[in-house]
Amino acid sequence: MLRRTKILATLGPATDKPGVLEGLFKAGIDVVRMNFSHGSAQDHLDRAEAVRAMSKKTGRRVGILADLQGPKIRIARFKDTKVYLNEGQDFALDINFDPMAGDNTQVGITYEPLALEVKPGSRLLLDDGRIVLDVVNVENMRVNCTVAVGGDLSNNKGINLLGGGLSAAALTDKDKEDIKTIGIMQCDYVAISFPRCAEDLNEARRLLVAEGCYAGIVSKVERAEAIVPEVMDEIILASDAVMVARGDLGVEIGDANLPAVQKLLIKRTRELNRVAITATQMMESMIENPIPTRAEVFDVANAIYDGTDVIMLSAETASGKHPIRAVEAMHRVCVEAEKQRSVRESDHRINIQFERDDEAIAMSAMYMANHTKIKGIVSLTESGSTALWMSRISSAIPIFAMSSHESTLGKVTLYRGVFPVYFKIESTQDHAEVNRSVVAELRKWNKAKDGDKYIITKGDLNGVKGGTNGLKVIVIGQGLTP
Ligand code: PGA
Ligand code: MN
Repeated sequence: MLRRTKILATLGPATDKPGVLEGLFKAGIDVVRMNFSHGSAQDHLDRAEAVRAMSKKTGRRVGILADLQGPKIRIARFKDTKVYLNEGQDFALDINFDPMAGDNTQVGITYEPLALEVKPGSRLLLDDGRIVLDVVNVENMRVNCTVAVGGDLSNNKGINLLGGGLSAAALTDKDKEDIKTIGIMQCDYVAISFPRCAEDLNEARRLLVAEGCYAGIVSKVERAEAIVPEVMDEIILASDAVMVARGDLGVEIGDANLPAVQKLLIKRTRELNRVAITATQMMESMIENPIPTRAEVFDVANAIYDGTDVIMLSAETASGKHPIRAVEAMHRVCVEAEKQRSVRESDHRINIQFERDDEAIAMSAMYMANHTKIKGIVSLTESGSTALWMSRISSAIPIFAMSSHESTLGKVTLYRGVFPVYFKIESTQDHAEVNRSVVAELRKWNKAKDGDKYIITKGDLNGVKGGTNGLKVIVIGQGLTP
């Protein structure tokens, strides 16, 4: 059975080891993430090359997502790498303190305005919330705190403000440099970290286009400000895909609020015809262990019940001990979860008037597929939009996005239930000939047999975007007239 939910795996030192990338391909990754928070530009360029080579070798188009670091606010370094903080003791964060000389009483920070943006009573969460500091007062840009939850604190750990509100712009100077690398690398998606509003995403898109990169934009929802209803819609609409970035978001809004926000965000993202990614700690224990915990199995399945398109692996694949096993575990959980009836039924846009014929055809194809005996749907697509609309409808029927455009094949790697197939229509081919070529591909990709019924949607064969204006039902092995 084809798995519909897509697996996004972060690359890193663990996947650079011989044989691991090939193992990840075999285990079924759909998209890889280049995490620009770690590693050099050259590391990312080399990995992208390796992924392209492996796509060629295996005949499976795997998408590439570049993830910008964004304004992650961090403490500087300690004299002795780490310190232990006791509950109740004083501890200060100071922009003017030597960034290499932190100790048990104070440490430098990387974010100038912190002292201006916190006030007595503000709560700071360090190292994903493992350490909690309460602000007592601010003196000359020095933030004096008491330790509310103590423990080990080591170099360069992240800082979040509970409730959000730090003003840092989403694109840092480092991100702008990295955008140049991404222009050279080329990729299918670019993820923007900590966007506050649509304009942060639009700016990123403009800078990418200036470097010749037309990648889809993924907004990582990881600030408290981004989940205010109006802002949430604005951010979703300015994105091609939306990531529930549970790591940082959980620190800002509190972990107990995450499940409800995940459900809302995925639902709204799908309603607005965008793609949803669920990220962080999905198989966390597999960084060390060869099997997931029961709770992790449930988390993956529940994200699928919430309607996510994509589930992500972070350190599990980038630096964990069992990168291939983590993908295999996700795969087997997905396949079983997708058998549930609720995952296959849909009321997507049920009360909406469609303005576009191509969207209406996409919806009609899905309605027909879900209500008759259809083996699969083929969308002959220039831009991939028809396949995107189709994939917003929950279904168990595979959608084959056939296109000759590499960028389109790359984009659809994130769409739930959509499988990229390279397909070129020659200018001399008429509809009947195109249908015959489609059938040849279906025999290859979906083991199509005589008597199987498929839907094909396409336009006037003239290669114009947005041109889908036809829906054809074919039975394999029977007369394939236009
Ligand atoms: P990160 O983003 O892994 O880049 O921090 C995801 C998250 O915050 O959940
Ligand atoms: Mn994050």
